[in-house]
Amino acid sequence: MVRAAWLLGHPVSHSVSPTMHNAAYRKMGLDLVYLAADVSPDRLPAAVEGLVALGFAGANVTIPHKEAAARLVGELRGAARVLRAVNTLYLEAGNLVGENTDVEGWLRSWDEQIGEELAGRRVILLGAGGAARGVFWALGSRGAGEILVMNRSHRRAAELVEELSPHYPDTHARAAVLDQDLFLNELGPECVVVNTTPVGMSPHPEASPVEWPRPLPERLIACDLIYNPLSSRFLDLPRRFEHRVMGGLGMLVHQGARAIELWTGRQPPVDVMRKATVDALRARFAG
Ligand code: NAP
Repeated sequence: MVRAAWLLGHPVSHSVSPTMHNAAYRKMGLDLVYLAADVSPDRLPAAVEGLVALGFAGANVTIPHKEAAARLVGELRGAARVLRAVNTLYLEAGNLVGENTDVEGWLRSWDEQIGEELAGRRVILLGAGGAARGVFWALGSRGAGEILVMNRSHRRAAELVEELSPHYPDTHARAAVLDQDLFLNELGPECVVVNTTPVGMSPHPEASPVEWPRPLPERLIACDLIYNPLSSRFLDLPRRFEHRVMGGLGMLVHQGARAIELWTGRQPPVDVMRKATVDALRARFAG
């Protein structure tokens, strides 16, 4: 019998997740199909209840449902217990479980593409939304030395630091407003800078959350969560001067791969998922 896994979001029509997941299921020979449903926030509880009644194989939730879905589950696991935001749901012995695979997705992407020690690192995190919380957790779990959270709204950055930093007392965390001059003052050699804002995303690929100084700091590592376009303007200069850079595609693929592991207990073909996603993004956005 063919079963279904779902993506619940609002909107979801632009999502490449169905292409990425279905490519993996085909390669794995699973009787599983991944479908996207546009669910308005007021219908989320009914939609999740419906999936449970249908005996769904698993589900992902995306913007704007990650926090609301966390309130609907019977059990939060891993980082989701603190982040109170989930992107993955599944049933275990009749119990609805919620996890956040973005954290693992970012770390696997880092290990694959950068592969350097995060312990003791100095990190500037641009943005303080849901994705920033996941990356903060990932960095803290690897013993980052210092995290400066810079956000348009200072209040949101301060809340993130206040809420999450007590879990990682060895990481010195600070909040600041996202400001170009301040960014330049804080930037130094061996810094890791992670953009978690949507600034630079299609249809505004000419935008960047900050401008880089010249020359760039030595051994700078620049990461963006944006995968559409595949390489954002934020990464252009560091890439051109041969610094280590990481776009958002790896995180997207690995958070999906982790969800499939949770649903099936099997290892999905990450390369097949990556290729299907890149092809879909190129076709959709000519990026
Ligand atoms: P979110 O919760 O809405 O947070 C967005 C953050 O960006 C907030 O801190 C917001 O600041 C800031 N921001 C928004 N517009 C801005 C602007 N014009 N200038 C400066 N700052 C701005 O969204 P999210 O879930 O964290 O997602 C953020 C990005 O990460 C999106 O591009 C998303 O596609 C990407 N993402 C990628 C992956 C992946 O797998 N690669 C996974 C998750 C998310 P304020 O607090 O001041 O509003």
